[in-house]
Amino acid sequence: MKEGIIIKSTGSWYKVRLDKGVTIDCKFKGKFKIKGIRTTNPLAVGDKVKVRVEEDEFGLITEIIQRKNYIIRKASNLSKESQIIAANIDIAFLVITIEYPTTHSGFVDRFLASAEAYRIPVHIIFNKTDRYNDEQLKQMNDWIAIYEKIGYPCHSISALNKSDVGKIKELIAANICVFAGNSGVGKSTLVNSIDATLNLRTDEISDYHNKGKHTTTFAEMFELNNGGFVIDTPGIKGFGVIDMQREEIFHFFREIFEESANCQYNNCTHTHEPKCAVKVAVEEGEISEQRYENYIKLYYDENDKHRVGY
Ligand code: GDP
Ligand code: ZN
Repeated sequence: MKEGIIIKSTGSWYKVRLDKGVTIDCKFKGKFKIKGIRTTNPLAVGDKVKVRVEEDEFGLITEIIQRKNYIIRKASNLSKESQIIAANIDIAFLVITIEYPTTHSGFVDRFLASAEAYRIPVHIIFNKTDRYNDEQLKQMNDWIAIYEKIGYPCHSISALNKSDVGKIKELIAANICVFAGNSGVGKSTLVNSIDATLNLRTDEISDYHNKGKHTTTFAEMFELNNGGFVIDTPGIKGFGVIDMQREEIFHFFREIFEESANCQYNNCTHTHEPKCAVKVAVEEGEISEQRYENYIKLYYDENDKHRVGY
């Protein structure tokens, strides 16, 4: 019995990486159930598995090692089934740009909230710093202050000039990573400047949500020469939308959640209640106004009720 990690899935076959870079094609029979959700695929890229190597150099997956996290999305718009995209993600890099294109803080905070819900650590990468004027640099530094204060590491880079790209590569070492962010922010440029042999499919799968087509898109994982893995999934902008009760959204704004312990009422929603500790913290500048406003927007979002993320 050997342990390995799934680096590619076709739905019926899995490519599993064993020790020392050896890969083996594997089959899996049976089902691994996740409580409460129906999935179209039992296993995904990033899953750590036990394999029984058969003759003819192929293997049978006999066991899945408990996932530390996973991301899923609906198999299609109307489907009740979900597809597991990837598992065991150590770092999600959220690539953003102050301009060219503008990344809105609402997008960032929704992304961070869904990452919290999935328990995936996020690092924020500010790209295209070579193009920023003083005002844009100031805005970037304001955002860095906001996000580092609540524990999200931030990095400012220029993927085009390869400036400060080395430190991103160091972070990937021995980890499973994914790059997310709006299209045009420089995800493919960055990944290519980290490792020119990687040629990721970063085109958006734009028809996916609009037409409700049943598209099966399988992620793949690439190994860097420093032992890290980068997940390649077509056009990963975020982690998909997560359904949740509006009353629980604040759990995924970590500084609001922390402060909520001091609220007067147990069921405080931190929206209108008098003597809400969260509101006091916002007034006193302890909690960022921008973050709080994005929380309020999510809470009252009528079109997209009870939903967080992308
Ligand atoms: P993706 O859609 O997120 O994968 O973005 P791309 O990597 O395709 O980049 C979109 C455009 O931004 C391309 O024209 C890149 O050359 C450009 N770009 C990427 N990174 C930088 C950067 O650091 N500085 C500048 N000035 N342009 C960049
Ligand atoms: Zn409150």
